[in-house]
Amino acid sequence: MSEPRNELDAAAAIARAIGRVARGFSVTFRQIFRKDATTQYPKEIRPLPPRAHLGRHLLNRHENGLEKCIGCELCAWACPADAIYVQGADNTAEQPVSAGERYAAIYQINYLRCIMCGFCVEACPTRALTLTDNYEMAFESREDAIYEKWQLLEPPLPLGTAPGTQEGK
Ligand code: SF4
Ligand code: SF4
Repeated sequence: MSEPRNELDAAAAIARAIGRVARGFSVTFRQIFRKDATTQYPKEIRPLPPRAHLGRHLLNRHENGLEKCIGCELCAWACPADAIYVQGADNTAEQPVSAGERYAAIYQINYLRCIMCGFCVEACPTRALTLTDNYEMAFESREDAIYEKWQLLEPPLPLGTAPGTQEGK
């Protein structure tokens, strides 16, 4: 910056500097009146849009209790993160598990890999697999992050009731 040549220039330079500082502080000052965007989770659980499907998967059943999953592995093939492992097996006439010829004897989703993209849901031919709105998924070990079939068949707990969230309240 060049030196002011006389007192008038000096006064103008000071006025410009004060203007710049005032503009800078005005940004800070405006924030005081802005609505707080922080959600005090888990004390406050912001409601999600009704059609939000961004959380833990659910393996669905037919009304008669039979599993919709037929162990076809299409979800596993569609997954870009290689997060799903399915091992199919044949149903028996005496004790069918699913409504198809085959069922998933093993069904696992690794939530350390899953990016919640929903490709698996799109690929499923029987609508056996859906995403829920439950995003409370904290784990204490790698094993805990791999959900087994019996866990995925259970609807997730309501938001705010998962183990551990009570301690944060
Ligand atoms: S949501 Fe995406 S990343 Fe997660 S299991 Fe399905 S396909 Fe894989
Ligand atoms: S969830 Fe759907 S796509 Fe995946 S194995 Fe079962 S039936 Fe096939």
